[in-house]
Parts: sequence; C-alpha cells; structure tokens
Amino acid sequence: MEVVKLNNISRFFSLGNSQVNALKNVNLSVNKGEFLVLKGSSGSGKSTLLNIIGAMDEASTGEVEIAGKPLNKLSDAKKSKIRQKHIGFIFQSFNLLPVLTALENVQYPLSLQGDKNSKNKAIKALAQVGLADFIHHRPNQLSGGQMQRVAIARALVTQPDIILADEPTANLDSVTAKSIMELMKQLNQQGITFIFATHHEFVLTQASRIIELKDGQIMHDKQKAAA
Ligand code: ADP
Ligand code: MG
Repeated sequence: MEVVKLNNISRFFSLGNSQVNALKNVNLSVNKGEFLVLKGSSGSGKSTLLNIIGAMDEASTGEVEIAGKPLNKLSDAKKSKIRQKHIGFIFQSFNLLPVLTALENVQYPLSLQGDKNSKNKAIKALAQVGLADFIHHRPNQLSGGQMQRVAIARALVTQPDIILADEPTANLDSVTAKSIMELMKQLNQQGITFIFATHHEFVLTQASRIIELKDGQIMHDKQKAAA
C-alpha cells in the first residue's frame, strides 16, 4: 500500500530577484513499512521534501497524496486533520514544550484532537520508549536522548502511519544516537513507515531504501533487501 505519493513536485523560493529551486521535478512513491533514508549534503532539499510530505509546506507545482488522499485542493483545516491523523514528526532539536512535563508533551497532540483518553495513551507511549519512570520530568530534567525519546512518544501516540524525522540523531552522541535508531527500527517493525533525513552513516545500514538528493533532485534511489 502506498502511503506517500509525490507527482512531479517542485518547490521554488524567491529571494529578492533570484529564485532558489529547493526541489525540482521530484517523483516518489513510498510504501507502507519502508524505513527510508534521505541523504545528501546540506541544502540538497531534504527538509523541504519532508515538510511537503508532512503538509507543513506546499509544493509550488506538482501533486502530493498522503494515504491515498490528494492534498492539493484541501483547505488548511482539512490538511491539518490529515496531518494529525496520518503523520508524526521528530525534529533534530526535539521541539518539546519546556514548561510541560514529558507526560503533558506527549498528551498534547491528542488533546488537540479532543481525545479524552490522552493521559492513558501518553503513559503507554512513554513506557514504549523506555521512559515509564520519567513521565513527570520536564525537558530540562532530561538528557538529550531522553528528550528525543519523549519526542518519539509524542510522534507515536496518535498512531500515525508515517513518522517523518529530520536529522533526529544529529544533536546526540553516537551511543545515544544508535539507541534512538534501534528504537525507531523497532517501531518500524511494528508497522510504522519512517522517512528520515540524516547524515549519520550508521543509519544507512538500517535503511530499507536510500534516496540521495542533490540540488533538489533525486540522484539515486536504492532499495535494499529486508535487513
Ligand atoms: P537540506 O535539508 O537538505 O539541508 P533544505 O531543504 O533545507 O536542504 O534547503 C534546500 C534549499 O532551499 C537550500 O538552498 C535552502 O537555502 C533553500 N530554502 C529552504 N527553505 C527556504 C526558505 N524558507 N526560503 C528560502 N530558501 C529556502
Ligand atoms: Mg535540513
């Protein structure tokens, strides 16, 4: 089953009189269960691509489908609904709300959906990422790896089909980064599709598919046999 389909996507940014072509004619189809890594040097278009897949940004031309639903003609409100239902995000800098506890951070996306069972679901998600004993800690009382685990729990708690991760291990030491990758691989084996941007070489060994971007275009698209 196809969870993401990009049909001839381009994204242009205007900077004064000049134009940056962040993505050029990108075609991509991602199936459920993939562990897909986007690689490419800084400025190659990885974040732009993730933001478009996550309906955080809009393509200048071309079409995007998420879980079979075309996004192009939808209102912002409808797009938010699709994002909340199908997509979780993990960021390089974790993006936790500093005044909220781990539990409250993880409850947050469920509260947006008016879920009355948010507390129990958040406790479960935090246990799933190994933080059962830290649910009342605030971000400044947690290590980097623990903060990223909270962010993973927050991405996970809405049971998304797809988790998008933009350099999720870039701010972590290598041992912690490996443990975070192992956690994501476990979640992938439970059925969540992952699309990552990363520089870390060890992530490439875990990938089921590696796509290399250069100057906004797909240079290589390599499927690997199941690991
Ligand atoms: P990567 O994540 O691979 O480092 P990005 O997707 O962030 O690459 O950027 C791709 C290109 O688009 C770069 O040249 C970048 O400067 C440009 N770009 C990205 N976002 C914007 C923006 N909001 N305004 C102008 N240019 C942008
Ligand atoms: Mg980036």
